Amino acid sequence: MPTAVVPAARLAVIGGSATQGAPFPDDLHPDAAPLDDDLVFETPYGDSPPFRLFTLAGEPVLHVRLHGWRPGVPRGLASRQVFSVLYRAGVRRILSEAGVGSLNHLLDPGDLVICDDFVDLTTDRAVEGVVGGRLLIMREPVCPVGRAALSRAARRLAPDRRLFTRGVYVVTEGPRFESPAEVRHLQAGGDVVGQSFSPEVWLARDIGACYAGIYLIVNYGEGVVADWSHDELKRRFTDDARLMGRIVLDAAASLSHEQAGCRCRELRKPTLLG
Ligand SMILES: [Zn+2]
Repeated sequence: MPTAVVPAARLAVIGGSATQGAPFPDDLHPDAAPLDDDLVFETPYGDSPPFRLFTLAGEPVLHVRLHGWRPGVPRGLASRQVFSVLYRAGVRRILSEAGVGSLNHLLDPGDLVICDDFVDLTTDRAVEGVVGGRLLIMREPVCPVGRAALSRAARRLAPDRRLFTRGVYVVTEGPRFESPAEVRHLQAGGDVVGQSFSPEVWLARDIGACYAGIYLIVNYGEGVVADWSHDELKRRFTDDARLMGRIVLDAAASLSHEQAGCRCRELRKPTLLG
């Protein structure tokens, strides 16, 4: 049964495709302990997807998967359900992850990218926030403190991986992949392509939370470097799921929910347009 009562939590993890192949958080971090599961909340946009509540180093953390769930629920509506819950929980910091395709020919499957900017080409996502009434400035869309925490965690847990601490994420509507001509077009605008990142990045700003994510290259974009194989795509999603989960949890455990070292909440002003 859905409930209207949302537990307080200052940290949240939005699970993407890169951890889909592993239970989360389970045994991925020594200080993670489950509190509650299958929490469905009533929201003005319909019942939320199931959340998991766990503690990480004593702090409550909300976890939800926002990829490939509940067919028939438009992505924009699903995102607003999730952010309505995160807003009521008082979430201040959000970390995310996903598997993405490469646009930049320097990137290979298995590389990790912590994106610092994005281009949103979606056409059927959220058109308004859950708080609203604010001008959301995208000068520095991704929290530098969150990015630094993810970078430290990735270097510690995956020292042999190539890690890129900047990159532009081009967000497409999906669910299909891009054609070779589309990839050539998108290469002018970004480094990786995927179907996560937005609207989450600006809904986080809407609720006054910091947002950052780490992305695993799982395939070359069509026409980039070489044809990709479905076997390698599957292998990346399964073999690296635990590593991606461990990186996100390690970064989350190191983050204070207090705002320090970033100006994310200053980039949200009263709107002049009513
Ligand atoms: Zn921030």
